[in-house]
Amino acid sequence: MNKDDIKITEMTEHLQPETLALHTGIHRSQFNEHSEAMFLTSSFVFDNAAQAAARFSGNEPGNIYSRFTNPTVTAFEERLAILEGAELGVATASGMSAILACIMGLLAAGDHVVASRSLFGATVNLFNNILKKFAIDTTFVSATDVASWEAAIQPNTKLFFLETPSNPLTEISDIAALAEIARKYGIWLAVDNCFCTPILQKPLELGADIVIHSATKYLDGQGRVLGGAVLGKRDLLMDGGIYGFLRTAGPTMSAFNAWVILKGLETLKIRMQNHAANALQLAQWLESQPNVARVYYPGLPSHPQYALARIQQNSGGGIVTFEVRGGKDAAWRVIDSTRLISITANLGDAKSTLTHPATTTHARISQEARDAAGISDGLLRIAVGLEAVQDIQADLARGL
Ligand SMILES: *Cc1c(COP(=O)(O)O)cnc(C)c1O
Repeated sequence: MNKDDIKITEMTEHLQPETLALHTGIHRSQFNEHSEAMFLTSSFVFDNAAQAAARFSGNEPGNIYSRFTNPTVTAFEERLAILEGAELGVATASGMSAILACIMGLLAAGDHVVASRSLFGATVNLFNNILKKFAIDTTFVSATDVASWEAAIQPNTKLFFLETPSNPLTEISDIAALAEIARKYGIWLAVDNCFCTPILQKPLELGADIVIHSATKYLDGQGRVLGGAVLGKRDLLMDGGIYGFLRTAGPTMSAFNAWVILKGLETLKIRMQNHAANALQLAQWLESQPNVARVYYPGLPSHPQYALARIQQNSGGGIVTFEVRGGKDAAWRVIDSTRLISITANLGDAKSTLTHPATTTHARISQEARDAAGISDGLLRIAVGLEAVQDIQADLARGL
């Protein structure tokens, strides 16, 4: 441990997130570099045979091989864990491998999951098509109806899994209420905190056991690399087998990606504040547009869970979803009239991105299921970027 870490350990409780994001996870090399070094190496050299044996047996701490640990990856894990208020974090190659590691570590064949119906598409496929083959069954329930979660519990239920706000309709799940039910039945609660990041929402403080991230989104913040993380109590990650799964099966984060996202965390707070300020202003403007039938944004009083969002989140976040009058043709016209906003499915980028969920991210779901979920043909999702909000407005106004 070097001087910076000692100083920080003593001060951590008193420091604000933007400060922590700049001054934690720092382990300087012999060159005393100011910006964090990137350790692009597959393995680490031992002084002698005895040290190699001691490292492998776990009697001596230290790096062995970058599938197990890597100093740049460790720096990212420490910084994110401190921001989430977690004892430990483990980084993964993508958000999906974070979810997979959580399931493979904690669950076994014959276990049951209760999950929100409003999850990221690939997460639904993982539960429905892949985990089912290994005899892990999932019951999907409403993101917002707390009673339906308790009603879906079976004797073999081990995990509650949710994402809030949801994609694309920004439904808010009550983390504290679901954590209380989970605790009563001895079930773990995992929350995908991708949309809010620890700057806007801290699920562990609200009673969740596990936080999942797709670091690909806001943590990187500039759409450069894929990454993910699982965070929670040390015992759950280590004895629960999550780290063991990663180390053995190998979907760990590369040092390069860890370095990019580590530096991304340094600006996370100012970015999230700006994404959210732009999103709120854009949502208010969209609500006043005659060709917009409905706006879904947790920072608007018209949002059905506005009161809960105000308690659970620091702001409405950066994602605004809205329904234009005139169905698919009208929605596509808005997309095709843009000159600035990127037509791409990613989110959390500094550049604004726009998608038509019914024909892209949710196209593989049947029309009936889409109707039931409220994903109409006129729906558009914008991940509001860091451009001047009047420029984003003007770009949308052209097609509205
Ligand atoms: C993108 C995303 C994921 C998957 O993350 P990848 O990094 O693309 O694997 C999981 N959950 C949510 C909410 C996402 O937006």
